[in-house]
Amino acid sequence: MALAGRLAAAGERPPLPCPDPVNAAMIRNWTQALGDTGTWDDVAPPAMIQVWSMPGLVRRPDQKGAADQVLGMLDAAGYTGIVATNCDQTYDRCVKVGEQLSTRMRFGGVTGPKRTAMGEGYFVTWYQSWYDENDERVAEMLFRVLKFRPGKRPPAASTGGRYPLRPAVGKDTAFFWDGVNAGELRIQRCADCGTLRHPPGPMCPHCHSLNRDHVVASGRGVVHSYVVHHHPPVPGRTPPYAVAVVELEEGVRIVGNVNGCPPDQVRVGMPVRLVFERMDDELVLPQWTPADAPPPAPPSPPAATAVAEPASGGLEIELTPTFIISTAIATRDFMPVHHDPAQARAQGSKDIFVNILTSIGLVQRYALETVRDATPESIEVRLGAPAYAGDTLTLTGDRVDDRTLRVRGAVSLGDHLTATVRFKEAR
Ligand code: ZN
Repeated sequence: MALAGRLAAAGERPPLPCPDPVNAAMIRNWTQALGDTGTWDDVAPPAMIQVWSMPGLVRRPDQKGAADQVLGMLDAAGYTGIVATNCDQTYDRCVKVGEQLSTRMRFGGVTGPKRTAMGEGYFVTWYQSWYDENDERVAEMLFRVLKFRPGKRPPAASTGGRYPLRPAVGKDTAFFWDGVNAGELRIQRCADCGTLRHPPGPMCPHCHSLNRDHVVASGRGVVHSYVVHHHPPVPGRTPPYAVAVVELEEGVRIVGNVNGCPPDQVRVGMPVRLVFERMDDELVLPQWTPADAPPPAPPSPPAATAVAEPASGGLEIELTPTFIISTAIATRDFMPVHHDPAQARAQGSKDIFVNILTSIGLVQRYALETVRDATPESIEVRLGAPAYAGDTLTLTGDRVDDRTLRVRGAVSLGDHLTATVRFKEAR
């Protein structure tokens, strides 16, 4: 790939200052969320290094990733799946409260195509380094993802055959289904007169313009009319169920099922809100639920009480929604898949899941609880099964030698991670 060669040759991008100096408040949020009881008086936990450069909820336009162009090209070529596979951090020294860090990114490379369990794909690697005020490097990270072409899996037996009602995705409707896959309900808009229209089409019915863009709907609406479907049978659906024409607060109407209440309780004029329903491995549909329906995730105990250490020497962490959300926010990772169950499901996940910055922090926590008074020099994490809400993550380890600990983090689906922690020599 010529682009990959050019990006690699371009070397490090200009440094970007981290949003905040290393500070006690963010360290305290992080240690409390992760259950880390280590003593970090005026130094930051090494595994927190990436947190200092996270953009937060609002990303500045200059904060483009070093691999964004390559990832975009692979998306366009059909390699739309993405899963992180490796995160290796090396710590030159601990950083202290008050230090103002900066970060640089550089593209690493692309290898592939390779056959993997996820499907054919390319491994994309980039590097991020952190520097102090004297431009001395304090840490470096390798980050690798697999961009894969999602495999065509046979439909589940319960659907009685391939679910027949696939949307016809064409040039006029691709934006809509791209939106659904990104957790958005997009409404086409005339780029000239601004009139909204649904279903999407090539021409504005109001001014006959062919120029169009879209807006993202709020997801609120009311039932304009509905039917309750009893017959004929539809594979993948269990009748009876309510199919409604929903009038969005933006003014256009859209057809969708009303889930989350018995079909005989659906009424014309009933306020509803958008939910995304995953039909199978490929298809997500925008659907509706009563506006006052409770959110899907049950309330849970706070993270502080969710962490228990069994006598076996392993570290067991109950992955409550509170734990997953508070650790994501404490690591300044606002990706919806770590706090919004509907968006996580719309993107093909079973539920919200632990983010990578937390996984590496937990490896450090386990390593320092196992090897006392040590300082990590590097942590290499290889990622596997997602750590979903409701599961339990169990960390166990093997001492390889004085300076090396191998760590395994298991969830019900298998290994969430395997890691190697190397320690600096005793001072
Ligand atoms: Zn128009």
